[in-house]
Amino acid sequence: MTSSQSLTSLMESSRLPTIPAVAMEIIGLVQRPDIDIEVLSATIARDPALAARVLKTANSGFYGRPRSVSRLRDAVIVLGLRSVKTLALGFSLVGNMRKQGARGGVDHTRVWQRSLLTAAAARAVATRAGYACSDEAFLGGLLHLIGVIALDQALGEEYRELGESAGDDLAKLRATERSRYGFDHAEAGAALAEKWNLPEALITAIRMFPKPDAADRDFQEIVRCVATGEAAADLILTDDTGAALSRFRWDCEQLFGIEAEGADELIAKFMADAAVLGTMLDVPASALSPEDVLANAQEALLQMSLESERENAQLQADRERLTIEASTDALTGLANRRHMEEYLAEQFRISSRYGTPLSLILFDIDRFKGVNDEYGHPAGDQVLREVAAVLQRTMRDADLCARYGGEEFVAILPATSIEGAEESAERVRVAVERQAMLAGGAKLSVTISAGVGSYRTGEQPSHDWLLKEADMALYEAKRSGRNRVRRFEVVEPASPWSVAG
Ligand code: GH3
Ligand code: MG
Ligand code: MG
Repeated sequence: MTSSQSLTSLMESSRLPTIPAVAMEIIGLVQRPDIDIEVLSATIARDPALAARVLKTANSGFYGRPRSVSRLRDAVIVLGLRSVKTLALGFSLVGNMRKQGARGGVDHTRVWQRSLLTAAAARAVATRAGYACSDEAFLGGLLHLIGVIALDQALGEEYRELGESAGDDLAKLRATERSRYGFDHAEAGAALAEKWNLPEALITAIRMFPKPDAADRDFQEIVRCVATGEAAADLILTDDTGAALSRFRWDCEQLFGIEAEGADELIAKFMADAAVLGTMLDVPASALSPEDVLANAQEALLQMSLESERENAQLQADRERLTIEASTDALTGLANRRHMEEYLAEQFRISSRYGTPLSLILFDIDRFKGVNDEYGHPAGDQVLREVAAVLQRTMRDADLCARYGGEEFVAILPATSIEGAEESAERVRVAVERQAMLAGGAKLSVTISAGVGSYRTGEQPSHDWLLKEADMALYEAKRSGRNRVRRFEVVEPASPWSVAG
């Protein structure tokens, strides 16, 4: 079989699993509502192994209280016609496929184990939800992976590699199948079910279980039960039991309105059913008890939620760190220019609205080029850091200190008059002058000049005016000899742009 071969040609393969004669007859009976106990019993009785399984099931307590019946006819009465039809059909088909064995190396026992668990869970959920289709849901679960068996039989060795690379991840297996063959095991299984004339509800369940929401409305219930059964099987068959429990509970709640506690009860119920039916079908159900399965999954789920909490906390911390990094000057650790301008614009809006004072100081290191020239650029950087530190510790906590660029710094002083700002600037000037700076092994001192601007109600159209005014005042401080503070002052009426000298 090559990848160009279609689903139609696959269905013509002589290697496909076959359907036993008894199963074919039962399918004929399934479609008839008027079927009679004698006819059904006689049909089943023609396959002694099947008859024995039906009898055993009637005695097992799988359907209600355990009874002791020894005749097939009584078993049919105990189990009910409708249940016997589906059960016998499932037993017959699965029993026959089990005998045919593996060709490509797919682990058939594992496929049937998954099918059995899915079937028992689908039935338990359907019953709990009060659906009439619980028997069909069981059969749908039991047969939902016949496509995997069919592909394995028909393709042989070639299919082994696909199965091996996907492991227990059926969604991955389907995706690989689709890219290799243009169809997947759900479609192949449905095609086989069609070929066998199985009822439409079953064909739909087999085709649509991977995407229950897209199923035809008439068959939504059975498809949802099988899909939820799949999630339940993962509880036992995958390592990620926490995720499986969470998915199973979610399905129960969203699709059937069954709360977490009810979902957990269903796990005990379907595992007990699967154990009983597993002995009939010679398929293992679970090595663990329902209590252990539930306890392990709950523990794994708790770990998962703790882990996701930790991850969220880490993400939050990373976000905060990035926000801080984006607004910080790398050399000095002060706010950067972008952050300073945002903050200034915000404070300017507040002052414009409420008429509160707002002042700004622009600092510039005096003759800094000389420091670089004499001691080298790294020493210059060290001086920048020292000046920044003096600025930070001399200003109040409520004031924002920023590196404006190069050797220029800005302080924004909310709720501060121009006089107050001037005093602060002077304190910083003196502190810098007094600070002996250690740079590149040398001890040196630097001075700074400062220009102060301040908000005046209604006079400045935007926040940049404060910066411009402070810059003009700074220019005046430099011009008049450096190492001093100047403030911008409006001189009426000659010029509104004048600096007090
Ligand atoms: P004044 O302000 O007193 O007029 O003189 P100045 O020498 O400080 O003047 P100017 O603004 O022209 O020079 C600033 C110098 O600052 C120029 C540049 O070499 C230096 N500078 C700017 N950014 C950095 C920096 O990140 N690190 C170092 N080491 N030097 C810088
Ligand atoms: Mg400068
Ligand atoms: Mg300078």
